[in-house]
Amino acid sequence: MQVLKFGGTSVANSKNIALVKAIVSKSIANKTIVIVSALGGVTDLLIDSAALAASQDKEYVGILKKIEERHIKTIRALIPIKQQSAILSKVKSELNTLETLLEGAYLIGEITPKLSDKIVSYGELLSAFIISEYFISEGLNILYKDSRELITTNETYGKASVNFPVTDKKCRAFFKNVSEKIIVLGGFIASSEKGNATTLGRGGSDYTAAIIAAAIKAKQLQIWTDVSGMYTANPKIVKQAKAIPHISYEEAMELSHFGAKVLYSPTIQPVLTRNIDIVIKNTFAPEDEGTLITKAKDEKGKTVRGISCIENIALISLEGSGMVGIPGTSKCFFEVLSQAEISVVLITQASSEHSICVGISATDIDNAVEVVNTAFAYEIEQGKIKPALAEKELAIIALVGDNMKNHQGLSGKMFSTLGKNNVNIRVIAQGASERNISAVIDKDDVKKALNALHEQFFEENIKQLNLFVMGVGNVGSKFLEQVRHQKKYLKDNLKLNIRIIGISNSRKMAFDEDGINLKNWQKALEKGTKANGAQFMNRVNKLNYRNSIFVDNTASAEVSKTYHHYLRNSISVVTCNKIACSSAFENYSELKRLARKYNAPFLFETNVGAGLPILDTLKHLIVSGDKVLKIQAVLSGSLNFIFNNFNTESTFHDVVKKAQEEGYTEPDPKIDLSGVDVMRKILILARESGNHLEIDDIANNSFLPKEGLATTNNKAFFASLQKNEAAFQKLYKSAQDANSKLKYVAQFEAGKASVGLQQIPKGHDFYNLEGSDNIVLFYTERYPNQPMIIKGAGAGADVTASGIFADIIRIGNF
Ligand code: ADP
Ligand code: ASP
Ligand code: MG
Repeated sequence: MQVLKFGGTSVANSKNIALVKAIVSKSIANKTIVIVSALGGVTDLLIDSAALAASQDKEYVGILKKIEERHIKTIRALIPIKQQSAILSKVKSELNTLETLLEGAYLIGEITPKLSDKIVSYGELLSAFIISEYFISEGLNILYKDSRELITTNETYGKASVNFPVTDKKCRAFFKNVSEKIIVLGGFIASSEKGNATTLGRGGSDYTAAIIAAAIKAKQLQIWTDVSGMYTANPKIVKQAKAIPHISYEEAMELSHFGAKVLYSPTIQPVLTRNIDIVIKNTFAPEDEGTLITKAKDEKGKTVRGISCIENIALISLEGSGMVGIPGTSKCFFEVLSQAEISVVLITQASSEHSICVGISATDIDNAVEVVNTAFAYEIEQGKIKPALAEKELAIIALVGDNMKNHQGLSGKMFSTLGKNNVNIRVIAQGASERNISAVIDKDDVKKALNALHEQFFEENIKQLNLFVMGVGNVGSKFLEQVRHQKKYLKDNLKLNIRIIGISNSRKMAFDEDGINLKNWQKALEKGTKANGAQFMNRVNKLNYRNSIFVDNTASAEVSKTYHHYLRNSISVVTCNKIACSSAFENYSELKRLARKYNAPFLFETNVGAGLPILDTLKHLIVSGDKVLKIQAVLSGSLNFIFNNFNTESTFHDVVKKAQEEGYTEPDPKIDLSGVDVMRKILILARESGNHLEIDDIANNSFLPKEGLATTNNKAFFASLQKNEAAFQKLYKSAQDANSKLKYVAQFEAGKASVGLQQIPKGHDFYNLEGSDNIVLFYTERYPNQPMIIKGAGAGADVTASGIFADIIRIGNF
């Protein structure tokens, strides 16, 4: 004999029930017991309707209607018309009784646990009946049995305890005499010795199946659900989770106890004593191997087998000098909780015995505080113990594995992973079995924590980087294109998986929690919502992904003001926008401080020399103990391009226009031509060399006529260039007469910085600088005479995008 249990999703509708039939039909070589849950979601609806009725809210009628419709629709879809009427009338009569029960609760304005169980039991009663009728109509040799007649419990309504001797006897007697090949029963429901309906706890259909499997010593217990086994973590939260092929009873029990809902945790106990294997299979992918749960341990398996979590946890702690050395305080504490039927999920006690802290279900916390304060009223009044402290909105995450006890350093790895991702840990507990290490964290951090731990323990070091990209113009769009092309290479070679979760331009913003498809991000953006910097920020925060990076490809002052916020939330910032780093020194250093404090890199390599590794090289010089004495540089790719192309045959205006069109200038070209852009760059270089400098400290001998400097928009600016052509030609001619070229040079020496147009003679390092190239000469203590030179393409969307990309990879390797 074998027992097959199908969960709520597997029997949620007629289409799924047909899949169930196909699976059952394949296994009837053996006598088969089929246990079914209520149609998916129906138990919740029943609970909701009961609660509404009890609070005298007429809305319960609407929910009852919904329940009725679901069942009737399923019957109509599954059963041939001729046979429908008998089944419909039976179901309607059951629903009438249910209605009467709910009406009773509504009239009295109250619901007892006993009545609640009676109401809730209709989910399984109806589903088992309908499914068995469907099987009959399909010609299967089946018998329907009301499981309340077999499973006997006490009267702890909501989660009754099974009377195993009685239940086992009834099951054996019944199944011995059944001649049909398939027996269909509802899970979850039972009855007390007095004949009252009881239930086995939420998710309890698994347990029904295990109780019956154990009683009749079935060959195997199969749990058919909506995922392909027990996974390394909940696959609905951790996309990278994988099914565990083989796991021991103890490990499975621990994982399910700590929240792996795929198996109701009491399920294992009955089959464990009889040594019956459990297989977890997917109704929607029956060919998948699933998970085998046996007595034997998988010695070759990973040390950490799975990570699970229980949401909606609260902590209650008791603290005070009165607890030290006084025996019985903890005993009393646990006794009162137990008397109030509050189950304790996790315990920690400080070694000084000064405090004791337990994790319980959030729904019990108010009651717990009350009973504990009442029990310790005398000690509290005497000031020996403080009133119980409650903390809410928490969750437990746990690493589970039989072999964990033999491995050092796992908890260190766990906590450093959480720390790196800015997940605050409230309490740590290690199970006495050493089969689990658990931590209590904020509820909002669960997704991030599970994914970060999963990455650390299961993903062969593939690190996921989650990017939020602001600005998809010249640089931004090139950047997205580069990511698309390199994605596979990075995954294969650097073990980095880059996902773009959010993008925004000045009009629209769009998010995709699974990563935006980079083949048509434009479409995704068009479909997005109206752009809003604050909302973008909030969304990034709410998503709370590990390894999140905010990428600023804009030139916007507004956007640069949001970096603080990102860094404070441990979100790294990568930017080609120079405004933040060239703003007030205080702001620049505050951003760097936040980056250190919150362990979130703040990288802006592209602020100087686009993709050239100038800042990174400088950083390496400084950290290795070198000191910068002097910097000389041509830092404006745009100005270099302009002066390299400007001559007597062209006009200054046209050359600037061309530079703008080819993406070599800032969106506002005046920023380049006025020297402001170069001032910002030399300022950043000076600051990164360890100097406290402000932008106003930099001397700027601008070559632009005053009139051009005073313009306030691009049109006026270009008009002024046209008007002053003669002045520009004069500059050119004077350089040519001196056998020199015009270069816009930035200098820093002895704490002083300056920028300006210079005539560079033949033979100088700067003379042959081509196109939009940049060059930087670092004179340092180690390079006092022959400077360290970095030279190459210093402007353009492509190289800037590649510089952004390089910063992101730096973070990936961080
Ligand atoms: P059923 O209705 O079939 O009993 P449940 O909803 O009770 O199904 O359990 C299956 C669900 O358990 C999965 O859809 C998944 O979201 C959740 N789950 C949580 N942790 C795990 C895990 N470690 N492995 C697999 N599923 C898990
Ligand atoms: N229908 C019950 C519930 O939703 C039992 C089960 O599905 O296992 O909790
Ligand atoms: Mg379940």
